[in-house]
Amino acid sequence: MMRYKYLLDEKDLPTHWYNVLPDMKTPPPPYRHPVTLELMKPEDLVPVFPLALIEQEGSQERWIEIPEEVQDVLKMWRPSPLYRAARWEKALDTPAKIYYKWEGVSPPGSHKPNTAVAQCYYAREEGLEGLATETGAGQWGSALCFAAQLFGLKCKVFMVTISYHQKPYRRIAMETWGGNVVPSPSSETKAGRDILAVDPETSGSLGIAISEAIEYAVTHDGWKYSLGSVVNFVLLHQTIVGLEAKKQMEMAGDYPDILIGCVGGGSNFAGLFLPFLKDRLDGTKPNLRVINVESTACPSLTRGIYAYDWGDTAKTGPVTKMHTVGHSFIPAPVHAGGLRYHGMAPIICRLLEDGFVEARAYHQNAVFEAAHSFAQAEGFIVAPETAHAIRAVYDEALACRESGEEKVILFNNSGHGHFDLAAYDAYHRKELPDYELEEEKIQQALAELPKIPA
Ligand SMILES: *Cc1c(COP(=O)(O)O)cnc(C)c1O
Repeated sequence: MMRYKYLLDEKDLPTHWYNVLPDMKTPPPPYRHPVTLELMKPEDLVPVFPLALIEQEGSQERWIEIPEEVQDVLKMWRPSPLYRAARWEKALDTPAKIYYKWEGVSPPGSHKPNTAVAQCYYAREEGLEGLATETGAGQWGSALCFAAQLFGLKCKVFMVTISYHQKPYRRIAMETWGGNVVPSPSSETKAGRDILAVDPETSGSLGIAISEAIEYAVTHDGWKYSLGSVVNFVLLHQTIVGLEAKKQMEMAGDYPDILIGCVGGGSNFAGLFLPFLKDRLDGTKPNLRVINVESTACPSLTRGIYAYDWGDTAKTGPVTKMHTVGHSFIPAPVHAGGLRYHGMAPIICRLLEDGFVEARAYHQNAVFEAAHSFAQAEGFIVAPETAHAIRAVYDEALACRESGEEKVILFNNSGHGHFDLAAYDAYHRKELPDYELEEEKIQQALAELPKIPA
């Protein structure tokens, strides 16, 4: 008899996050100060992030306890189910066994609340009044508003103007969870006013919204800033996904040959793969393959270079060594807004450099073809970001059909696409806008990287 899903009990929720830093062959190099470019001291981050998170960022402890109150909130939807995509396997006529971890069951509909809940807990413990953040299409903003509400915190969200007007449903969700959402650039910060003075009709950008959120946090007593991806502590919080999936794969009696996920800043996929990669780092599973999938519109791992760069367009955040297409690069407006980040998590970049993980990029048209096929077989309509992972699974499954190999593939199904149906509509009507690989624009942006003092 075919078994379709593997469920854990609430009592099986992991009690510790897995910190990969002590197990890495080479750790990611330290951050640098956005202005002086000198090595950054932990104190430099104190006005920006809650103290407990700064500590976690550089921790050398392999297992870090998940506070009980955080576990308690996560149990609203965790442990999340692990599915066998048996109907899709059949539709693709592949001997491969395809499994996926389904993160769309959280109230905001993605993996993002896994870290939002932890960040709000530490902010509340520190006695803060609120957290400020930026959001593009609204997935991160809605996760943070949802979590802030549960911990009695205020949440201020700077939402990129063009999305604020084009995608009102995420804004309405954020407001339902008690958030205060303003279009960015706004008149509430100096960064926003400066931009509006020059161009009152601007559509905004994530880089500007980050600058506004940081400025709001450091100029308001009792407020700090919150980030939804890229940094070590966010990846740490997301490892709950992989820790659950490992137990569920054991229930299924399989161990993955290939792990696949989409990467914007890298948090959902690192959350899935790091607990498995531990087995490759310690030599138990030397052949485990880990495939990071990005968008050809913003190909930091596949076309960028490994170098120090600013984390945000306005150069207010830490300078980080990562694969980057340049902080001034503006990607084509693809539907997968979460994959339009110019850099990548330093942990993933280091692992790529050391040959422990791989990367590939897909065009928007290719990913919706695969997501469409997945929705018809499995039912779930996934987020445009997740569709990138699904395309890679599709290609690996078809390769197994050619070779006759019965590989075990596990991917992270990071979220649902119920607020992104316009993208599916455009795909059906063959109206997805095309875009070129912007080699020249990338070269221009790479010329603007910081010159690091020797
Ligand atoms: C934000 C988002 C992503 C991309 O962010 P990562 O930090 O790379 O995980 C992927 N999938 C969904 C559903 C998202 O909301």
